[in-house]
Amino acid sequence: MAENRPVSLEDPLETLPGAGPVTAARMAARGLVRVRDLLFFFPRAYEDYRRIYSLAELGALEPGTSVLIRGKIVSVHRFFRRILDVYVEENGTRLRARWFRPNASMAKSFEKGAPVALAGKLRRSESGEAELIHPSNVTAFLAESASVGIRPRYPVIEKVPGRTVEKIVAAALTAVGHQVPDLLPASLRVQHGLPDVAQALAFVHRPPDTTSDLELVELLAGTAPAQRRFALEELFVLQTGLAQERARVKQRHAPPGAGFDSQQLLAAVRAALPFTFTGTQERAVNAIFEAMAAPSPMQCLLQGDVGSGKTAVAFAACVRAARAGGQILFMAPTAVLAEQHSRTLSAWGAQANLRTGLLHSGLDTAEQKRVLAAAAAGELDLIVGTHALLEDRLRLSRLVLAIIDEQHRFGVRQRARLRRLDSGENGWQIGAQNGMVPHLLVLSATPIPRSLALTLYGDLDLVTLEGLPPGRLPIHSHVCTGEVEREGAYAAVKQAVARGGQALVVCPAIAEGEGGGRTRVSTVALARTLRASLHPARVGVLHGQLAAERQRAVIDAVREGRLDVLVSTTVVEVGVDLPRAQVMVIEDADCFGLAQLHQLRGRVGRGTDQARCYFLTVSEAPDALDRLRVVASSQDGFRIAEEDLRRRGVGDLQGTRQSGTPELRFADLATYMGLVEAARAAAGAVLAEDPDLTRPEHAELRRAVKARFEAAHPISEEAG
Ligand code: ADP
Ligand code: MG
Repeated sequence: MAENRPVSLEDPLETLPGAGPVTAARMAARGLVRVRDLLFFFPRAYEDYRRIYSLAELGALEPGTSVLIRGKIVSVHRFFRRILDVYVEENGTRLRARWFRPNASMAKSFEKGAPVALAGKLRRSESGEAELIHPSNVTAFLAESASVGIRPRYPVIEKVPGRTVEKIVAAALTAVGHQVPDLLPASLRVQHGLPDVAQALAFVHRPPDTTSDLELVELLAGTAPAQRRFALEELFVLQTGLAQERARVKQRHAPPGAGFDSQQLLAAVRAALPFTFTGTQERAVNAIFEAMAAPSPMQCLLQGDVGSGKTAVAFAACVRAARAGGQILFMAPTAVLAEQHSRTLSAWGAQANLRTGLLHSGLDTAEQKRVLAAAAAGELDLIVGTHALLEDRLRLSRLVLAIIDEQHRFGVRQRARLRRLDSGENGWQIGAQNGMVPHLLVLSATPIPRSLALTLYGDLDLVTLEGLPPGRLPIHSHVCTGEVEREGAYAAVKQAVARGGQALVVCPAIAEGEGGGRTRVSTVALARTLRASLHPARVGVLHGQLAAERQRAVIDAVREGRLDVLVSTTVVEVGVDLPRAQVMVIEDADCFGLAQLHQLRGRVGRGTDQARCYFLTVSEAPDALDRLRVVASSQDGFRIAEEDLRRRGVGDLQGTRQSGTPELRFADLATYMGLVEAARAAAGAVLAEDPDLTRPEHAELRRAVKARFEAAHPISEEAG
């Protein structure tokens, strides 16, 4: 580095004073490579050392409070190398400061009779006295400046002392903190009352002494205006990228599809279905028809609660595509579900002249070959199947529509592949001629709040089904904790079976000894017990390690009423529709996420009889019980998902981990749900003026979007 050149954002971290090559290498391991990275390496906590407390005051403070104290060292004790105790006195009050495994230099730095200043968290000793554990020695620091102020605490970087990290970040802030470009449109920033980027960086890294108590509380909670600003900026960049992706697809040509009378089509669909569409289903169908008539390909996410009737809406789309002379791929995550869809859709399809085929790897090879050949020859309109469809063997000459059911079970890669159906790189031999892109309809696996859907699937247009088809009674749900309640749950199973109904029992584990630490109830063991205790009920077992053929046989037996009770792992979770099942028991329910429990519960109550669901748990953790009560007390999947989001964060919410959208670093969605719509609107406004972000004032935004999506997008990975 030339000596006099000013530091720039893109310089390597070693440009900064205090960052030698060894430290830089250690920080690089944490992704901190350039000076810019340091500015966005935010403190995880703050300690308030603005005020100097007298030792006499400490007794009245809450343990855990950060305090700065001063006094005179009255004695220093070392217990071998393990413990260092320093007693400090001020106006007759004493305080013990203790370090475990102190290093040698630390002991030497304390001298009897010398003045000392210590900063750290207050604790109560066994005898109830105030003490400090591992405080920082800020004697020298305090001699130089009037106050220690509010100190940032950065995430720990292995082998780099916290103090060093603090110094290097401070150096970066001083050198280039004012150079960071502001990506947020000023109007958006002002509208939300948020600081500009330089102010925000300064506040986050170096909160001023004038910070109010309220501001400090917000800062610690991650909700201060400065932090909101970075969250909004991140969401804005993300929404800009998603909107661009959406726009890119809109420029492509869809298969020809205009010229149909929607009302006529709808009548054909209605005639094929054994029930009447609800209003919300009909609105969804119309929205989808409209999208399919447009010159650009449909890219749609159909959302709806468990059991809301997404399949029938998707069927309408199939009918439309087939009328346009096209073929349809309908993909399900499991063979069990593909089988079910093929059964339903071929029955409905037969009424609308759709020729349907089923394809998954559990079928014997001759049958697979037959279906592949028929598909290639154009003798099938609708091909239902599992991932096997994504393999190279399938050849379709006129694919018009791809439907993915229960999206969360599909990995990022499959989805990325689907997006590029036309590119010829995907290994599919699909006739999307003349650069045409087939329509894409994604059916959500689990209802998620709109803000989350816009974040994870913002490149898709959202269509939502409200509520459930009529005639469903709410499922009576109970949380069962003790042995008596557990017996009550199984008594309900017995009763349902005695009346000719069926029951589903779900366990977290397949066989004994699975599931780590605590022993989880397993399907195999439980089925054995239940065969005895529920005699003469016929009890079957289902789990993912059974051969596909065996799984199908079990499901068929349940469907045909040859089994009364099915003990299963979560393979039944997705989409399986068993209208005669009225009772569900979920063992070790605390092992599952809220959204997943709701999804599981959705397996019952699809008929018109009163359904019951029992959440069994032996956990006594208040939080676990509380979570179960949330699901038990609500039937609204959207509300449950929102609650799940609030409690566990996005990463854990079922179906979100694999969405393929870049991960958020600053914008904890549970906290910032409310900013998503604003970010989306602002992104739309910017792109309306400058679709390719080619204007000079958008250069930084373009760079940020590119960096974000390139870093996270799995598409390039697939080439390898
Ligand atoms: P999901 O949205 O969870 O995929 P499904 O499509 O499996 O739900 O539908 C759940 C059940 O509701 C199925 O048995 C289906 O046949 C039935 N169903 C769907 N729409 C209606 C309707 N309008 N009236 C009555 N039953 C319906
Ligand atoms: Mg479904």
